[in-house]
Amino acid sequence: MKKNILSCFLFLCTATLTLSAQEMQEQDAQFIRKIYDEALTNSNSYNWLEYLSLEIGARLAGSPEAAAAVEYTKQIMDTLNLDDVRLQEMMVPHWVRGDKEVVRIVNSSIGDVDFHVLALGNSDGTGPEGLTAEVIEVHGVEELKELGREAIEGKIVFYNRPMDGKHIHTFRAYGGAVDQRVWGASAAAEYGAVATLVRSMSTSIDYVPHTGVQIYKEGVPRISATAISTKDAELLSDLLKREKVKIYIRSTCRMLSEKLSYNVIGEIKGSEFPDEIILVGGHLDAWDVGHGSHDDGAGCMQSIDVLALLGQLDYQPKRTLRVVMFMNEENGGRGAKKYWSTSNEKGEYHMAAIESDAGAFSPRGFSCDADKGVFDNHFAAVKRWESFFQPYGVNIYKGGSGADIGAGKSQKGILFGLRPDSQRYFDLHHTAIDTFDKINKRELELGTAAMTALVYLLDKYGLEGEKGR
Ligand SMILES: [Zn+2]
Repeated sequence: MKKNILSCFLFLCTATLTLSAQEMQEQDAQFIRKIYDEALTNSNSYNWLEYLSLEIGARLAGSPEAAAAVEYTKQIMDTLNLDDVRLQEMMVPHWVRGDKEVVRIVNSSIGDVDFHVLALGNSDGTGPEGLTAEVIEVHGVEELKELGREAIEGKIVFYNRPMDGKHIHTFRAYGGAVDQRVWGASAAAEYGAVATLVRSMSTSIDYVPHTGVQIYKEGVPRISATAISTKDAELLSDLLKREKVKIYIRSTCRMLSEKLSYNVIGEIKGSEFPDEIILVGGHLDAWDVGHGSHDDGAGCMQSIDVLALLGQLDYQPKRTLRVVMFMNEENGGRGAKKYWSTSNEKGEYHMAAIESDAGAFSPRGFSCDADKGVFDNHFAAVKRWESFFQPYGVNIYKGGSGADIGAGKSQKGILFGLRPDSQRYFDLHHTAIDTFDKINKRELELGTAAMTALVYLLDKYGLEGEKGR
């Protein structure tokens, strides 16, 4: 009889616990619904992004516009009733484009043709005189070795390996082609090339040139490096199959002395676990053409809006929620370096960090990354929340995080990248057409909502499963 009473008691306890877990799940689902409702009807990110795009615009690190963007985002944060808003200073490179670049075919059977071009970030120009040389086409830096100095010396090396159209996730295609842009100039200079042209990193075939950073190797001549549109790349490649082609290049871009700039940081202190930080962020700098609306004005405004929305819903976080606008992601990463070195010096623990830097298209998921030793546990902890995101078409899967938060891995928390639909992103990435009119308000807000819901779950439960409650 005693045994029966005991098992009956245990059964009741389990039933109560199960019920309360279910209830809790329902509560969470309801709160997440509220987050989405609020984001889609009463959020500010679209208006903030409109101002950042149209009133401030292109904002490469070191520019007056980047300084204005720092001031503007600090002002927004100041209105949100956060516990702390601060600037974190660092020195940043200051690269300027100079005059409109010229890349012109000068000796061909089709006459003189001007290409649609943008010099690559951090590159030196040809100078006002310009230069003229014969072009040689390659499909990767490894091909230079096969060709050897004899074939390359004195020529313009033209990198023409397209992004692989077979990838569903276009970031993978970008990752598979971008080495030509980043390392191509110095690699060619080592064989005596006088300049490089690179096919734009784009999934479209059009006349839009895409800039982006390139990095010179120490001790190698700093030759000019220019992106040409994909249509121009196709034309040049066709022409080279038939005849020798000479091209004139003129560019006056150059690196000036470093400038003082800032990360913008705002936070709400956690009520129970203030030492466990949950970071949301994006990068405030953008290329010097277009508005940088998708890359990455959107990610910045979404990140600030996460804290704003939780405030609008009267949510009191247990953990510290911090929003960071990183400076200089595009051509130096100084903001991220400063942020993480300071954080490590202070012995901080970022339990989680979420970066939105993949455009403001419809969110499809979060990719997760963490230190190898903790990855499996952390991933299991967050993967069980996937059902909450199902109504909104958002998955949780393994992958990378973001350029500004990757260094946070050593703190052994979990890192996330917001992953929107990526089919259109590389049509406009790093171009003059990354402008505010390409932003869809609802898609932007859905991204904010997904990030806010994830922050809510991370804050409420931590990474320890039931223990985190
Ligand atoms: Zn970006």
